[in-house]
Amino acid sequence: MGADVDVAIVGAGAAGIAAARRLAASRLSSMVIEATARAGGRAWTCDVAGLPLDLGCGWLHSADRNPWTRIAEAAGFTVDRRAPAWGKQYHDLGFSRAKQAAARRARAVWADRLATAPPASDRAADALEPDGEWNAYLQAMSGFISGAGLEHVSAADYRAYDTASTGCNWRAPAGYGRVITASLPRHVDLRLSTPVNSIELTRQGVELATPVAGIRARAAILTVSTAVLAQGVIKLPPDLNAWPQAAARLPLGRNEKLFLEIVGENPFVPETRVIGDPRDRRTGAYYIRPFGWPVIECFMGGDSARMVEEKGPAAGFAHAIDQLAALFGSSVRRNLHPLVASSWSRMTHVGGAYSYALPGHAAARNDLALPFDQRLFFAGEATHTYDFSTAHGAYESGLRAANEAIAALARR
Ligand SMILES: Cc1cc2nc3c(=O)[nH]c(=O)nc-3n(C[C@H](O)[C@H](O)[C@H](O)COP(=O)(O)OP(=O)(O)OC[C@H]3O[C@@H](n4cnc5c(N)ncnc54)[C@H](O)[C@@H]3O)c2cc1C
Repeated sequence: MGADVDVAIVGAGAAGIAAARRLAASRLSSMVIEATARAGGRAWTCDVAGLPLDLGCGWLHSADRNPWTRIAEAAGFTVDRRAPAWGKQYHDLGFSRAKQAAARRARAVWADRLATAPPASDRAADALEPDGEWNAYLQAMSGFISGAGLEHVSAADYRAYDTASTGCNWRAPAGYGRVITASLPRHVDLRLSTPVNSIELTRQGVELATPVAGIRARAAILTVSTAVLAQGVIKLPPDLNAWPQAAARLPLGRNEKLFLEIVGENPFVPETRVIGDPRDRRTGAYYIRPFGWPVIECFMGGDSARMVEEKGPAAGFAHAIDQLAALFGSSVRRNLHPLVASSWSRMTHVGGAYSYALPGHAAARNDLALPFDQRLFFAGEATHTYDFSTAHGAYESGLRAANEAIAALARR
């Protein structure tokens, strides 16, 4: 019995879409198998109140070398090249200029320690000044960047990302999620609402079991998140135990976005930003009126995102409104209406935001990216050794895995 397809791609997120694009340009047949009812995965532009709101990736990080910038512009999407308002506190509300400078200095000292005298433990928290005045601020930043506290994060892994980042961050007003999903070639065989339950090795290659039908392929590319892989949601042959083990060393951090709608007369100025409380590691960061839209994008990371996960979005909205009222005055409460919130940590087929490496385990990214027996290939943001946690890292990983599969099948 022959195979149904040359390469089966499991997951239609940024990595799966990149792999499908590469395979569509080859002589091999391919199929994308996606558990949920939509493509995009953690790239998700949601149309709410007439606005294209990104519940997942929103910023083209390292945008000047990010392949999605080129793909977006080639497809006719506008890329907004203005610098973000991050790092600035609107009107220095609740965070004086002097304190902002002190917090920035503390961050620079910590980053310098990571680079010049990295802790033997590889725990990023061990480079903090003991009882440092700005440690809660640095922890909040870690929540936004890694989705976890510094005590859980590998210093080497953090440094790898930081060193490679160009610091250039742009946006696509139509939505990053939309740019990514629109790039899937129209003729690609996409099977939505088709979760892969198990993968078996066969004489021809692999067989994927789904509730709809079994799919035989000469090779498969797995792009599912590390949470999905580590939890054993997809049953793999025992010879592949090392991959879920590597995934477990690269857990997904917690990050959620909540959008507040702004109504009535209000003090909110477009393209500004505030941090709620720089001395609280549970603080949110608030991007005010992106593109002039009547919304505030509330970004929760680490402890604050865990609170949203455990107590639900209503508790997250209440936390955000309390923090904004403390800065802008309690009258803004009547201007702010909960609009839409993500729930990445509770989503069955994702299970968190983006990967970080546990202390001592930065090399797990290489282990996770290894192919198995020239027929199973691994992609996804977590497999990138320095652009992990991003949509462009996912893209590069999908491209790599597709090239590996093409080379392997040519040899067979
Ligand atoms: C709140 C938030 C903000 C972010 N902000 C940014 C940002 O500004 N810039 C940036 O670059 N990145 C950002 N990211 C990260 C970025 O979104 C991800 O790194 C990237 O989208 C991951 O793509 P992926 O293809 O590796 O994984 P995924 O998008 O998770 O794709 C994997 C796919 O596999 C599917 N799947 C799972 N299990 C199965 C199964 N059993 N069978 C079939 N299919 C399955 C899933 O449904 C999913 O569609 C953000 C993420 C979050 C959550």
